[in-house]
Amino acid sequence: MSTTIEQADVVIVGARCAGTAAAVPLARAGHKVVVVDKTRFPADTMSTHVLVPNGVQELQFMGALQKILALNPAKTRYLTLHDDDGLEVQERFKPFSGIDYGLCIPRDQQDVLLVEAARDAGADVRERVAMTEVVWRDGRAAGVRVKTRDDEYEIQAKLVIGADGRRSRVAAEVDAWTPYRASKNGRGFAFRYVDDPKGEDAPSAFQIFRAHGNQVLVLPACPAGRTLVVNMTDAAKIPGIRADPEAGWQEMLDLDPVLQERIGGATNMSSVRSTDDLSAYYRRSSGPGWALAGDAGHFKDPVTGNGMRDALKFGRLLGEAAAVTLHDPAELDGALRDWEAARDADTISTYHWGNRESRPGPSSPLVREVLRTFSGNETPNLSDTFNRARPIEAIITPGRMVKGLVRALRAPGADRRAILREVWGELPAEIGARRHRLLDGFRSTRSAGTEREGWDVGPTPKPPTFRPAADPVGAEDARSAPVAAD
Ligand SMILES: Cc1cc2nc3c(=O)[nH]c(=O)nc-3n(C[C@H](O)[C@H](O)[C@H](O)COP(=O)(O)OP(=O)(O)OC[C@H]3O[C@@H](n4cnc5c(N)ncnc54)[C@H](O)[C@@H]3O)c2cc1C
Repeated sequence: MSTTIEQADVVIVGARCAGTAAAVPLARAGHKVVVVDKTRFPADTMSTHVLVPNGVQELQFMGALQKILALNPAKTRYLTLHDDDGLEVQERFKPFSGIDYGLCIPRDQQDVLLVEAARDAGADVRERVAMTEVVWRDGRAAGVRVKTRDDEYEIQAKLVIGADGRRSRVAAEVDAWTPYRASKNGRGFAFRYVDDPKGEDAPSAFQIFRAHGNQVLVLPACPAGRTLVVNMTDAAKIPGIRADPEAGWQEMLDLDPVLQERIGGATNMSSVRSTDDLSAYYRRSSGPGWALAGDAGHFKDPVTGNGMRDALKFGRLLGEAAAVTLHDPAELDGALRDWEAARDADTISTYHWGNRESRPGPSSPLVREVLRTFSGNETPNLSDTFNRARPIEAIITPGRMVKGLVRALRAPGADRRAILREVWGELPAEIGARRHRLLDGFRSTRSAGTEREGWDVGPTPKPPTFRPAADPVGAEDARSAPVAAD
C-alpha cells in the first residue's frame, strides 16, 4: 500500500452535477480543490436529464452554459400538459437570471462540460480515481484514501464532500447511509431517444401526456431534432417492459392517441432504458469536516425533473458556504449544518409532491378538476412546480383545491361519495406536507401522508474495485463503460 499523502483544502468525491458545482466557487476563491471520480468522462449515467430554467441558470453561474449551448440543443420555452379527458395546459416558463428556456442534454455530453468548467475555475479533477475510505483525525473527516488502476494514496483536506450519487460510498463511510426519512416510488421510468417526426414544426415545449395512469414526457433534446421520450409508468410494469421493451413501448403509444399522433411516426434512436429503483430519501448530510451533496444526501422521485437542479444549486451553495469558513473548523461545521437546513427547506415541498406524483394509477376526477384550474392562461403557474418558482403549496393552494372539488362534485354523473372519500384520504398528505415545511424541525423523522412504506436504498456500497475497461459494467452505467464499479 502506498504511503503517499497529498494535501488539499477540499476533496470532493464525484465529478458530475453536485461535485463540479461545489468545486467551482471553492476553486474560484483560491482554495486547492481536488475532485476525484472513478469514471472517465464523457460517460453516461441513468437520468432523463431535463433541466428547467431555474436549473439552467446554475450552468451559467458555473461557467458551463456557453459550451453547452454550442452543442446546439433545443431551447424549450413552454410546458404543455394533455390529459386523456381533453384537458390542455400550455404555459411559458418563468425566466431565471434572464434564462427563459429549459434544456435536455444527454449526460455524457453535459457532464464532461461540467468537468471542464470545474477545471477552468482551477479545480484539479482526476478521472478514474476511486475513493475507498474516509480518513479521520480527532473525530473529524480529514481526507480520503483513493485508488487508481496502479496506485493507492491519501488526500488530506479540511473538508470532504461526498458528491458520489445515490450509492454514495462517502455516506457509508460517515455512517449516514441509512436515510432518516424515505419513501418508496410507485412509478418506474422507461425511456429512449427518437427523432422528432414533427421536425421544424415540433412545439418548443416539454410535453406531458397523461393517459390511463401513464405520464409520458416528450422532451426536445440535443442536438435540436432529437427527442427524449420518457414513460413514467407503474413501477410494477417495469419487469415486463424489461422482458419485452418494444411491446411495452407500443402499449404506451396505444394507450394515448394524442401521444401516438405526436411521436408515433418517430424513428427510434436508442434502446429502451428502464428502472424501478427510485426510492426518495433524505440522509444526514453534514458533520464534522464532511458534507453530502446532490443525490448522495437527498434524492426525490425524478417525476419532478428537479434532481440536477438541486444537485447544481446546493452544490454551488455548499461550495460558497465552505469557501469562507474553511479556516475555522467550528465555523465550517456550523456553515455545513446551515447549508443542509437550507437545502431541506428548499427541497421538502418538491420531495412530497414527487412522492404523490409517483403514485401509480389514473388521475381521479378530483385531480383532473384541480389540474383544469390551470388551463386557459399562458402565464407561469403549473410550470412553476417544475421550475421551482414557488413552493408547491403556494401553487396548488387550498383555494384551487376547493375550486376543483366544487367542479368535480357538480360534474354530470359525478360519484360524489367517491370524491369525498378521496378528499378525506388526501387530507393527511396535504396537511403533513405543509406541516413538514412550516413547523417540523431540522432532520424531522415524523412521517407524512405522502410517504410510502417499503423503500429501499440497497446494501451499503463496498469500496470500488477496478476492472478492465472492456468488462461489463453495472446496469445504471451500461452505456458509459466506466472503469470502476462498486
Ligand atoms: C431514471 C432517472 C431519471 C432522472 N431524470 C432527471 C431529470 O429529468 N431531471 C433532473 O434534473 N434529474 C433527473 N434525475 C436525477 C439526476 O440524475 C440526479 O439528481 C443527478 O444526477 C445528481 O447528480 P450528482 O452529482 O449528485 O450525482 P451523480 O450524477 O450520480 O454523480 C455521482 C458521480 O460520483 C462518482 N462516484 C461514485 N462513487 C465514487 C467513488 N467511490 N469514487 C469516485 N467517484 C465516485 C460516479 O462515478 C459519478 O460520476 C433522474 C434520475 C434517475 C435515476
